[in-house]
Amino acid sequence: MLADYHIHTKMCGHAEGEMEQYVEQAKVAGLSELGFSDHIPMYFLPPAERVPGVAMAEEDLAAYVKKVVELQEENYPYPIKLGIEADFSPMHQKQLTDLLTAHPFDYVIGSIHFIDGWGFDNPEFLDEWANRSVEVVYDQYFALLEQAAASGHFDILAHADLVKKFGFRPQKDITYIFDKLAKVVADAGMCVEVNTAGLRVPVKEIYPAPEFLKACLKYKVPVTLGSDAHHPDLVAKDFVQALELLKNVGYHEIAVFKQRKRGVLSL
Ligand code: ZN
Ligand code: FE
Ligand code: FE
Ligand code: ZN
Repeated sequence: MLADYHIHTKMCGHAEGEMEQYVEQAKVAGLSELGFSDHIPMYFLPPAERVPGVAMAEEDLAAYVKKVVELQEENYPYPIKLGIEADFSPMHQKQLTDLLTAHPFDYVIGSIHFIDGWGFDNPEFLDEWANRSVEVVYDQYFALLEQAAASGHFDILAHADLVKKFGFRPQKDITYIFDKLAKVVADAGMCVEVNTAGLRVPVKEIYPAPEFLKACLKYKVPVTLGSDAHHPDLVAKDFVQALELLKNVGYHEIAVFKQRKRGVLSL
């Protein structure tokens, strides 16, 4: 019983394929559930500074919701869920609340893709890594993730070690950072996702690291599964490896959501 809860659509401007194609592919992949989680509008920037092609435009959010709700009403043999991948920005939490409460989301995935305005996981801004200390970037990234987890806005923490995407690693052992974050996530009653997109980027590793998942299991943090598909062919991509990872760590179930209430599927 598997659910893919991290799916993008072409509304964000950098994914391909119609929603129906993703839904069709869920059947091919034998999924029990599919959840859309497109990028929330860049609410943390003034409209003039929002970059097209990074996230959906604010005026498209209602259309995105409507389209997923229409698919939900078509009664596919597997549930379709309305999710959203929302960036956390400490200074713009009111704007985030307004967007999240305006729509009937089944779940909200919280992400960090920016460190003081720098899109550290965007290949376009890869050069900026050379101007920064990897140690400091890691500290900033995990401090933001902790804040996001403690903020109460989110059900699921996205790709919890996305900062490793291009293979930059700090010298120090970060096990203590993982332990601290897992505790915050547990106290917030959130899940973490196992996201296979990391296998398709330079680091070639699932997000998050097994060490972080072990800390999550210790604090009884539930997990969700996501491909982070930006193309219909990527629905449930590499879930065999994700399952192997989960079983090795000791997880036997995954979480699912309906109207922001958590349920479980046995693996
Ligand atoms: Zn994307
Ligand atoms: Fe993301
Ligand atoms: Fe994503
Ligand atoms: Zn993502």
